[in-house]
Amino acid sequence: MQKNNGPIASKEQTAGTRGCRVVILGTGGTIAGTAEDASDNVGYRAAQLGVEQLVGAVPALAAFQLETEQVAQLDSKDMDFETWRRLALRVEAHLARPEVAGLVITHGTDTLEETAYFLQRLLAPQKPVVLTAAMRPATALQKDGPQNLLDAVTLALDGRAGGVLLAFAGQVHSAEQVRKVHSYKLDAFASVDGARLATIEEGQVRWLGWPPVAQAGLGTSLVSALTPNVWPRVEIVMNHVGAQGSVVRTLVAQGLVDGLVVAGTGNGSLSASLEAALREAQDAGVCVWRSTRCDAGPVTASAEALPSAGALSPVKARIELLLTLLQNQTQARAA
Ligand code: ASP
Repeated sequence: MQKNNGPIASKEQTAGTRGCRVVILGTGGTIAGTAEDASDNVGYRAAQLGVEQLVGAVPALAAFQLETEQVAQLDSKDMDFETWRRLALRVEAHLARPEVAGLVITHGTDTLEETAYFLQRLLAPQKPVVLTAAMRPATALQKDGPQNLLDAVTLALDGRAGGVLLAFAGQVHSAEQVRKVHSYKLDAFASVDGARLATIEEGQVRWLGWPPVAQAGLGTSLVSALTPNVWPRVEIVMNHVGAQGSVVRTLVAQGLVDGLVVAGTGNGSLSASLEAALREAQDAGVCVWRSTRCDAGPVTASAEALPSAGALSPVKARIELLLTLLQNQTQARAA
């Protein structure tokens, strides 16, 4: 990727030597949702239209070389490990095709940031894998899905793009930074603790800075053979006024968790009762990480405190801990 000071490249130039085909993988969400009444923005059913129908609704997409594949059809509040496993393998397979410039994944907004983070950590792709979504169903008066889909394809063809990205409401966010920050607004996502990467205006991608240096991917072999019930169990608990350790003690006593992420207050602070229970959990072999319930910022590490999850949000810390436990399991099996 180049820094954005130079001229804006045309669609033909940006396709570069990567091929110029874009594969669009459908997984459902509001972008594929329909309502009985066009003026109803909330009383709709997500995941009703196929990905081919979404593409067919955007005449400008006829100018591109596209392929579609329906990987799932669900409301992303119900996203699950089996769909993640299948999606990661399909993304990997399409990325390996020389004629493919990049991928687009249509997804629900609710857990989009989790899927984005999961795919980035497994695959760390050189080519762009662009997630996109919508806050309004496909039948709405003010639907946002068609423009978001067109922008996502534009970004997937930009030769400077790489990694797992979100194209949404004219903004480009990285998988690491992006969070859903609003429950209703059309502009519902933000890069909360860093810069958004680019904007997309009238079919032109305008890069705003240098892309972050991505860590290497962990590889899909970590999950390819897993069935849903053998994924490590990691839950999130929260510190708040009057937070007690009893929830943690119950989860541990019933053998329900391999890992726990605590969304602490401020810089990861915990009530005395919650901290005591988390330390007991740690002594009992449960892996405990401390994050913050603040919208942005890190939890600074300290030798005396429970381990920090860095600047990851609680849900992304949960995925990172899940992947760490999977790596530990793999290493233990190999030893
Ligand atoms: N519940 C929907 C989903 O996540 C919300 C959306 O897509 O905006 O699939």
